Amino acid sequence: MKKTLALILIIMLFINIYAYGATGYTNISNIGLYNNPDYGSGIKDALKMSSRLEILEEGDKWCRVQTPDGKTGWIDKFFITLPSERYVANNIPYNINIRESPTTGSKIVGTLKPGDRAEYIDTYHSWHIIKYAGGEYYIASWLTDIEYKKSEKIYFLHDSINIRSKPSLDSKVTAQGNSGDSFEVVGEEKGWYKIKLNDGSFGYVAAWLTSHDINSLKSDHITYKKTSHDLNLRTGPSVEYDRILTLKKGETVKTVAGENGWDKIVTQNGYVGWCNNYYLKETLPLAGKVILLDPGHGGHDPGAISYSGKFEKYLNLSVAQNLKEVLNRAGAAVYMTRTGDTYITNKERGRLADKLGADILLSIHHNSLGNSDYFGLSTYYNTINYKSPAYGYNLAEAVYLNAISINGVYRDGILDRNFEVLRETNTPAALIEIGFMSNPTEEMNIHNLSFQNVMVEKIAGGIVDYFYAYSN
Ligand SMILES: [Zn+2]
Repeated sequence: MKKTLALILIIMLFINIYAYGATGYTNISNIGLYNNPDYGSGIKDALKMSSRLEILEEGDKWCRVQTPDGKTGWIDKFFITLPSERYVANNIPYNINIRESPTTGSKIVGTLKPGDRAEYIDTYHSWHIIKYAGGEYYIASWLTDIEYKKSEKIYFLHDSINIRSKPSLDSKVTAQGNSGDSFEVVGEEKGWYKIKLNDGSFGYVAAWLTSHDINSLKSDHITYKKTSHDLNLRTGPSVEYDRILTLKKGETVKTVAGENGWDKIVTQNGYVGWCNNYYLKETLPLAGKVILLDPGHGGHDPGAISYSGKFEKYLNLSVAQNLKEVLNRAGAAVYMTRTGDTYITNKERGRLADKLGADILLSIHHNSLGNSDYFGLSTYYNTINYKSPAYGYNLAEAVYLNAISINGVYRDGILDRNFEVLRETNTPAALIEIGFMSNPTEEMNIHNLSFQNVMVEKIAGGIVDYFYAYSN
């Protein structure tokens, strides 16, 4: 009898370990980590967009979380994206090495045997990060499969989304789905979800067109508003609720929801609460900002040449033109280093930002490598000519953290590089490599207009976050 009880206790212990410790991410920049599950409890810290969180406890409205640097606290669940819990599986007949860092030259710490699985945490630099022997280690993504721990759903974000026979834009369309439709997801591959259809068959959908959680914040629901009066922030949507703090007249806040004349808002310092929206006036978040966009390469310089033979210079220009429109709508004055297929030196591009008196310079590129297995999105800054190393970094980081929040876009890092276009300017400058043209899957994604539209919205969101956090 005692043995049975001990066994039950051990099983319960494992169930607990299994249930807690899922990985989530913040879905808005600068969000409060609260002392208690209560808007009035005060915040310990404000977390950046796409901050990784270990979920320690999940309630209806709040999660208790731990950050990678060990801080614990509570976050309103609305501001957390909770991807499904996943395994990395070895489905090939050989052992796969588990390594200390994401390179084939790094130390081997163990192996994943054929048929074995390990807990998946994230993907970085084309390697999966897994839990192994009490730590976090790396395993090659191109040798392994991602599998789901249990039945999970994804939701379609738009109408007329194609469901395909393979995880690729050139495969056959077998069905379509509309906004709000949900499907069971059973696996994922380089930006695509494998889903189970109603007739029991399987299909693939582009991850960037889907969401894990229909109830959490969607970035296109954020509007920026300015207070027209000193204004109380309260713990709920009426004057009956406690006052948290008083916003000053002229402060800009993010509105994320509303009911009965009250807006749910996030302040610049990360406090969440409710305000009477009579005193909140919508504002363009980039009004008065001057932005120089730089579509990389051009003319006799094609840039990278893709897996299927397409030139990077055309792709950079089309993304920049699309981004310009989004930034214009947000109130910015936007200039371009080139609007056609012309060649300009990188030095001239950098200097133009200073000449224009631009607030920022963003250079747009797509990556390429000899090894077609590599994928992911990276941003760059340069510290050579800057007084403060944070100058270009803040922009590179804000753009990166927004862009990698897209489902199916993977992290490749924020890196300090001595790129001429970044070096030859005194304007805060960053460069983005949106994806690898040398990777057959990513190449198709980055040439796809629906992917580009989602991407430019996120890049614009990063630019707004940059100005909101650093220059108001
Ligand atoms: Zn390039």
